[in-house]
This record gives sequence, C-alpha cells and structure tokens, in this order.
Amino acid sequence: MNLELTEEQTAVRQLARDFVAREIAPHVVEWDRAESVDRSIVRKLGEVGFLGLTIDEEYGGSGGDHLTYCLVTEELGRGDSSVRGIVSVSLGLVAKTIAAWGDEEQRSQWLPGLTSGASIGCFGLTEPGTGSDAGNLTTRAVPDGGGGYVLNGTKMFITNGTWADVVLLFARTNNTPGHQGISAFLIPTDTPGLSRRTVHGKLGLRGQATAELVLEDIRVPASAMLGPEGKGFSVAMSALAKGRMSVAAGCVGIAQAALDAAVTYATEREQFGKPIARHQLVQELISDIAVDVDAARLLTWRVADLIDRGQPFATQSSQAKLFASEAAVRAANNALQVFGGYGYIDEYPVGKLLRDARVMTLYEGTSQIQKLVIGRALTGVSAF
Ligand code: FAD
Repeated sequence: MNLELTEEQTAVRQLARDFVAREIAPHVVEWDRAESVDRSIVRKLGEVGFLGLTIDEEYGGSGGDHLTYCLVTEELGRGDSSVRGIVSVSLGLVAKTIAAWGDEEQRSQWLPGLTSGASIGCFGLTEPGTGSDAGNLTTRAVPDGGGGYVLNGTKMFITNGTWADVVLLFARTNNTPGHQGISAFLIPTDTPGLSRRTVHGKLGLRGQATAELVLEDIRVPASAMLGPEGKGFSVAMSALAKGRMSVAAGCVGIAQAALDAAVTYATEREQFGKPIARHQLVQELISDIAVDVDAARLLTWRVADLIDRGQPFATQSSQAKLFASEAAVRAANNALQVFGGYGYIDEYPVGKLLRDARVMTLYEGTSQIQKLVIGRALTGVSAF
C-alpha cells in the first residue's frame, strides 16, 4: 500500500488550492450573506477542468482518476461547500451517470456542455413525501401513445435546481410498486410545464441554488429515457454510490478547514497570559479534529482506490460518507469551541463550516440510511 500521491495528483491538488484561494476564498462571506454564489464560478470551474474530471476527453472531459476527483472535491469543500456541491451534483451525479448509462446520442448531447460549465445539471430524486424512501416516489411518466411520455409530479430540495439546464429525473413508468417501476429521464429544464421555485431559509449551503421542481403535463420523447425502462432506481443508486464518496471528500475539506482555522486561532488568541493553544483542553479539541480529518480522508481515499481498481465500492462509500459527514459536524463544532464567542459571528469562518456541515449527515442518504446500507451488506438482511 502506498498512500503517496503521484506528481500529477499533487499538481492537480495544487491547482485546486490556487483556484480556491483566487476565485472562492475572497467571496465566501459575501456569497453566504447574499444567499448566492456568483454564477460565473461555474464557467471558471469548467475552464480549469474541474467539471470534467473522470470523463473521457472525447466528451470534453479532463480525464483523471477518482482519487484526483476526491482531492479537488476536498479542496473545494475546504473553500466553500456551496461551490463544492455544484461540482458534486452537476459532474458527480449527472455527468458521470450520463457517461455510465447514456447512449452515444445522450453523451454527445449533454456531456460537452456539462464538462465545460456551459450548462449545469441537477438530480431530481427526492419528493415532498419521499426522501429516505425514494423507492416509493410518486412522480408519474405515462406513455403518450406516440412513443414519448407525459410527466406529472413534484421534486423537492433539488441542488442547482433553479440554475440547471438539464434535470436527471426519476419517475414511475409502470404500476409495479416500489423501485421496480421507476425509470430515469434527462429533461431540459426549459420544457413547457416545468416550473422551479427557490427554497429559501436554509441553515447552511446558503449560496447554493436549492429548488422545488413542479412538473405539470410535461412531454418528453422516448429518447429522454436514460438506461432501460424500469431500471431508474439502479441508475439512481449507482449515481449515489459514487456521489457519497464525493460528499465524503467535501466533508474532509470542511474538517480540514476547521482544523486550519482552529490551529491558527489557538496560537494567536491569548487568555490567562498565554496563547490558548497552551491550555491542554484546547489542545484536546484540536487533536480530536485532526484525528477526524485523517480518518475521514483515509476512508474516502479507499473508495476512490476501489473504484479506480474496478472493485466493488458501494458499502465502503456509505462507510466513508457516514463517518466523514459526522466527523465534519464534530470538527466544525470543536473548532467553534476553540474560537469562543468569536466563532459565533460570521466574520470568522467556523460558524459557516458548522452550518454547511450539518446537511452532510442528511442528504444523499441520512446517517441512519447509511447504517442500514452497511448493516444489510454485513448481515445479508435488509432492514429497510
Ligand atoms: P426523511 O426521509 O423524512 O427522514 C426523516 C428522519 O427519519 C431522518 O432522521 C431519517 O434518517 C429517519 N429515517 C427515515 N427512514 C428511516 C429508516 N428506515 N430507519 C431509520 N431512520 C429512518 N435530493 C435530491 O434528489 N437531489 C438533490 O440535489 C438534493 N439536494 C439537497 C440539498 C439540501 C440542502 C437538502 C436539505 C436536501 C437535498 N436533497 C436532495 C434531499 C435529501 O436527499 C433528503 O432530504 C434526504 O434523503 C432525507 O429525506 P427527507 O428529508 O425526506 O427525510
């Protein structure tokens, strides 16, 4: 086992660090307060190749392995989770899924735009009545008699929802109950009958465009279906298995940012006539963060390594996501403690880290759902 990065991986990580320092860090507080990152960041992410990682160059991708993808995702998460999420969804959940499941026409239609940042993708699985229980979603796609489908339903909490040009959407195409009746569709968001509403008032990820999507008699051709009819749940789960690695990498970035901030502050702030770093209980907070960072990173890198070697990785991805998301919340909370009262105001970075970390234990499968996935793999018994 060799955990040393290659020259290329090190160079791409440095590229990501420089990108974050130049294009993201100066704007983080402003974007958080304004509840919107500057949309030009998407083009910039595309230009530097971060929206095309792991995708073949013939579709505009920038290639690279999954560890490189994790390194970039971690650095973006260290900078601003709102930006990291744009990449995790548009590339991680949408473009990669089109690359894996799409036919030649779908790949050529969508991938060059998504990888360049000319267009943005969103992932429409969750509904108001079905979150964890996504296999029972109720959005319907009824054959229109001419080979196409008519869709009706509502999708909730869709990241990039108001910005996206295409939604990878999951709908029920037959009356088979549960996940077997679900199919996946690639739907342009300007399709008549599709409306979008911004979800305001989020605890964290305030700069991100989260939306409710309403579908009223929208018509799509048969060619909009991604993957075989009735296999939509497999499409969704395969996307999320890799997506959870991406979330985990973003969480490592949050925890690392918490560590960096806590160490710097502890060596500068003085109480009782000495830097607070000289108080043992402050060192305990910092060492707890450091162990969480390293453990989360190693679990995440293991998933990338398994994918790059063509091995099964879904359970390990759930383990990494479960641990890293809970670790990010702990790390940000510990860092806030190190900052004392100053941690509670947004002139300092740790309050935002905690707000942004909090959603990580909820989306792409809550911590409870990850435990059920891991438990099912270990016992062979489904507790769903
Ligand atoms: P519920 O499923 O109602 O769960 C409520 C509680 O019950 C949780 O604690 C859960 O763990 C627990 N619970 C549920 N079932 C079980 C069980 N069987 N055993 C034990 N405990 C259980 N979705 C998308 O499709 N696309 C997106 O881009 C997207 N982005 C999001 C962005 C944000 C900011 C947020 C907040 C959510 C986003 N989501 C997205 C939705 C997210 O994936 C869901 O919120 C999540 O899956 C949980 O579903 P729920 O909110 O309906 O909670």
